[in-house]
Amino acid sequence: MQNLVIFAAPSGSGKTSIVRALLEDSQQLSFSISATTRAARGNETDGVDYFFLSVETFQNLIQENAFIEWEMVYEGKYYGTLWREIENIEKSGKIPLLDIDVVGATNLKEKYPEQVFAVFIQAPSLEMLEERLTARGTDSKEVIAERLAKAAFESGFADRFDAIIVNDDLQVAIQQAKDLLQAKFPEKKLFLS
Ligand code: 5GP
Repeated sequence: MQNLVIFAAPSGSGKTSIVRALLEDSQQLSFSISATTRAARGNETDGVDYFFLSVETFQNLIQENAFIEWEMVYEGKYYGTLWREIENIEKSGKIPLLDIDVVGATNLKEKYPEQVFAVFIQAPSLEMLEERLTARGTDSKEVIAERLAKAAFESGFADRFDAIIVNDDLQVAIQQAKDLLQAKFPEKKLFLS
């Protein structure tokens, strides 16, 4: 395996917006599509946002060692990164960019310290996080409470990452992420702008 770039964060920290902006501006980074057993949200497409799998299929893939990492991120919901996905991206000459949960990212960083460059996106505060999750409008009150508890737990892992970006201002955070990655891969021109 070559290099992996990982972005992890408590949900609602704005990670997805940062990752999207990086991918839109790069011909060198390629989004690693994860597999999951959760249901697709309204605007999501199978094979684009995730590979949406049944629990049975996912468990079979675990048995076959098809995953570089997998986690039950939420009760009963599996998420994982397939070796095949990483290999396909590497074959295309690009660097895989993984958007995965904090525990999965920490495990990969521990397992492959040299290859993995792991970035932690921190929301400014738990209050702000609650506001963002509520404003997003995609999750129920119970789900938001569950995600807030998880965010508090996940913040404790931040110091195991290669870099931390505090997302106060999205545009500033995007630029910081670009600068960090470009400094990590000086031999490549990662971004168009
Ligand atoms: P969501 O359900 O909101 O799309 O994602 C929930 C969480 O699962 C996010 O933190 C997301 O980054 C994480 N996640 C997505 N794919 C993977 C994966 O392949 N492995 C792990 N460990 N977490 C993932």
